[in-house]
Amino acid sequence: MSNLEAEPAELVCDGVPAAGIQVLEPREVPLGGPRAMSVRRTLPQRARSLIGAWCFVDHFGPDEVTESGGMLVPPHPHTGLQTVTWLFEGEVEHRDSTGSHQLVRPGAVNLMTAGRGIQHSEVSTPPTRRLHGAQLWVALPDRDRHIDPFFEHAVIAPQTIGSATARVFVGRLATDAEAGPGPVRTFTRLLGAQLDLPAGATLDLSVDPTFEHGLLVDAGPATLDGVDLPVAHLGYAPPGRSRLRIAAGEHPVRALLLGGEPLGEPIVMWWNFIGREHDEIVAFRQQWQAEVVEHGTATGRFGIVDGWDGRALPAPVMPDVRLRPRD
Ligand code: MN
Repeated sequence: MSNLEAEPAELVCDGVPAAGIQVLEPREVPLGGPRAMSVRRTLPQRARSLIGAWCFVDHFGPDEVTESGGMLVPPHPHTGLQTVTWLFEGEVEHRDSTGSHQLVRPGAVNLMTAGRGIQHSEVSTPPTRRLHGAQLWVALPDRDRHIDPFFEHAVIAPQTIGSATARVFVGRLATDAEAGPGPVRTFTRLLGAQLDLPAGATLDLSVDPTFEHGLLVDAGPATLDGVDLPVAHLGYAPPGRSRLRIAAGEHPVRALLLGGEPLGEPIVMWWNFIGREHDEIVAFRQQWQAEVVEHGTATGRFGIVDGWDGRALPAPVMPDVRLRPRD
């Protein structure tokens, strides 16, 4: 494979003239450390920063934990976002500075709302031989991004739609809108669902026409409104559609459908922080370094993770240039 990072925007053109579907390529990102696992990142990238309030899509595995060491992420901070962990295989142990301690397995969701500030650790558990799933972030709108942090866990019941199966872990399908807001709390209108299709199946899914959508293909390939989506690619459908047609070919499809109303706010993302301007990110970084990395203070913006035996993750050095908002 050639260098995917060189000109990612050029690949976007493939699907656009035919059906308005933008095909976003993944790029391989190591999570750090010589043996650490790597992830396939499809959001953000040069061609696209957001799908609704979804602002970060990391897809990983199937990863042989005995070779990679699995997931071993020491306490690190977040601001202004929610993290969503959704697994296809394996088990991850989450701890955070609100005191939450939760295992997450396939069919259940961990959602952590960072608000004004939180820190957490994530580790694949000793019985986990293979790890496979996605780590997703949702940007909080300006009016809610300074709220107190909290954590939620929900087991998701599968729903049958024709020959397909849906597991809706954030929000509701358009056809179930009257059933309430969904299994976890969101701050903009949002959808996150695992879709499984047997080989040869077609799913005509009713969607909210005010939403934009992304389809991340985990197993496939799939087509989205007739446009081919290879495995690990993210197909983007702009707002204005009341139906998405997702189809499997010779192989079964497993995919994540991510949708939402366009956020409509510029955000600044750097490392694990989301803010609105450069100086705010600088201040978050300084607080993390001073309060947690250097002094282990439990009373600051980020609190402390109980039950973690070791150091918190130091923040990288900031770039020389001023960070600029996305979208
Ligand atoms: Mn995190």
